[in-house]
Order: sequence, then C-alpha cells, then structure tokens
Amino acid sequence: MPIINSISNIKKDMQEWRRYLHTIPELGFEENKTSEFISKKLSDFGIEVHQNIAKTGIVGVLHGTKPGATAIGLRADMDALEMPEENHFEYKSLNNRNMHACGHDGHIAMLLGAAKYLSETKNFKGTVYFIFQPAEEGLGGGKVMVDEGLFKKFPMQTVWGMHNWPGLEVGKAAVHSGPVMASADGFKITVLGKGGHAAIPQLASDPVPVAASIISGLQTLVSRNIDPVNSAVVSVTVIKAGTASNVIPDQVLMEGTCRSMHQEDRIKLEQGIKNISINIAKASGLEAKVDYISGYPATHNTLQEASEASVIAEEVLGIDSVEKSMPPSMASEDFSYMLQEKPGAYIWLGAGNPGPGKMLHNSRYDFNDEILPLGASYWSRLVESKLS
Ligand SMILES: [Zn+2]
Ligand SMILES: [Zn+2]
Repeated sequence: MPIINSISNIKKDMQEWRRYLHTIPELGFEENKTSEFISKKLSDFGIEVHQNIAKTGIVGVLHGTKPGATAIGLRADMDALEMPEENHFEYKSLNNRNMHACGHDGHIAMLLGAAKYLSETKNFKGTVYFIFQPAEEGLGGGKVMVDEGLFKKFPMQTVWGMHNWPGLEVGKAAVHSGPVMASADGFKITVLGKGGHAAIPQLASDPVPVAASIISGLQTLVSRNIDPVNSAVVSVTVIKAGTASNVIPDQVLMEGTCRSMHQEDRIKLEQGIKNISINIAKASGLEAKVDYISGYPATHNTLQEASEASVIAEEVLGIDSVEKSMPPSMASEDFSYMLQEKPGAYIWLGAGNPGPGKMLHNSRYDFNDEILPLGASYWSRLVESKLS
C-alpha cells in the first residue's frame, strides 16, 4: 500500500505548516511560538493537548474508535540550530541567528499531518501519543521529558522516532536492528605542572611533553581496547597552553569528544581516558585531572520493533525500499533516552541528494517537502497496524 490517499490530499497543508515553521526557528527549550503553533493545530484536530512538559514540549492524546489498553508514542523534535541561514527563498528564517538546518520543521509537519489524518479516521484500537520534544540539538530535551514523567503520565508500550536523511534516495528508508546512532561524550584533561624559564627546564615540571604523551596514549584506546568490529572514536580537539615561547607553562588543558555504539565500549573509553591521563602524568611526577562529560547515550532500536518498522516502511514505500544494512551514524540523538525506557525504533527517511553544502547542519540545507506525505503515511500506518 503506497501513500495514504487522504494524506496525499493534505500535503499542501503540511508544506504550508513546514514552511511557516521554517521562518520561525527557535533554539532548545525556547520553542515558544513553535509550541503554540503545534498546540493550536492539535486542538483544531480535536486532539487533547498537554503543554509545558520539559518547558516547551507537548503531548497530544488521541483515542481510537475502538477501546483498547495498547498505546504507542510517536516523537518529533522541534528545535533549530544557532546558525545564520544562507538560503534566499521566501520562507527563509526571519531572524539571522537561528535556522532549521536539521529538518525538525519537517518532522513537526509530518507528525501533524499524521495527527490530522488519524483524528479524522480514528481507525485504531487504544491510544496514540503525539510527542513533540524540545531541545534535541545538544540540550537533551528527550531526557528532560523522560525525567518529568513522560512515560508515567502517558503510559505506552512502545515509542517511535524518525529523522529525514539526505543522501538516502526519496522513497527509501533505512532501519537498523540495534545501534543507529552513537553516544556522544566529552572530556577535559588538565595536566598540572610547574612553569618556569624555558632555558632552565630542570627547575620546572613541564606539562607540555606529558600532554603530548597523553595524546599519543589516547590514540591506542580504540585500536587496542575496542572490539575491531565495533565503531568508536576518540578525538582530542582542543589544546591550550602557554603564553610565550621562552616560558614553560604551569598547565596544559585538552578537550575532546568520544563516540561509541555500545555501553560497554563507552565505559571502557571513559576508564581508559582517566587511566592513561592520570598515570602518564604520574610517571613524570605530575598530576592530571580528568572531567568526563556524559552526553547522549547510543540510540539502539529493539529487534522486534525494528522489524515492525521495516514492514510498515515497505508497505508505504514499496518492496525493496528499506535499507537494512546501512552503517549506523557516529552522530548522536537524544531519542536514545526514550529508547532506554521503552522498546521502539528510530528510522531514517530518505530525503534525496541535495548536493554538497546542503546536507544536515549546513547553512543552505532545506527539508525536502516531497517526503512529507511519506513520513505522515508511515506514522499513520504504524498506528493503524500496531493498534489494530
Ligand atoms: Zn541536527
Ligand atoms: Zn535532527
């Protein structure tokens, strides 16, 4: 079964909503106008609206025509990025600070499209929750929603997510059985030495060569500690030390990022960064302090739900439309916090090839409106199938 007919009829509405949202990009936890717009639409569709979950987050509640104890949650993210837009079409960002460069405007429109269709047909048994989540881009709005009792206030058995995916053809989807996106952690290492005259090093404790050894040591973490079939990254990206060429500095500060697909690897990397830094410094009679900053966990689809998502995507997009062996992305996603609590699947919806400089997080990116009916049909069929 291809795109649902009546959804194809509301493509124009979805495009209009999407383009309006594109003009008012708002950053994480500040999605006030966006949230107002969504609430108004949901109310117009006759859907019960719960606002102010994680500040600007919303949950819409819709019951099917048949009673049932089963409930599922569909999640869209709402925030934009702090970057100026370089597009010049008429619906470009109205402020020159923020931009919808990740397509969350389209994610909102697709979920609203499904909400409209489902509120008119209600051809399901039980309850669907429309989850509009703030602050995906780094601030962890997904976690805040969970912490504020999303799954207690709105009990559901499974939770589902979707992201538009430029680079994957329109009409295709990618579904992963297991890891989809990596965990993203940060670290700060401070090597504490004792400064002095650069020509009299014996009277100082130079932290610079120690920092260099630590950086080299960190390069062995992935290659010697992680199973070679698993993916992981440790990158040192910031080094700060010294003010003059003839002065040994007191300390060196290093920062970096750490990505992995599995929790056991994440723990190994954290311990490894601490061990290497502290012990290399100690071997030279210096001290190293390590702050490990845990970010988003890895996003893992549960097997059963990944398989159900594939079946629905193939129903909507056609036979052989679902890529099941695409490598996961080393980027991260805070839908992971929801998937830590409930079974579910997060799929990538093909958005076509927009060309270089127009991919996600680029200043000339734009959500591909052609896929609006595909995403809305996927959501709707998922509800009608899971709640049949
Ligand atoms: Zn993004
Ligand atoms: Zn995104």
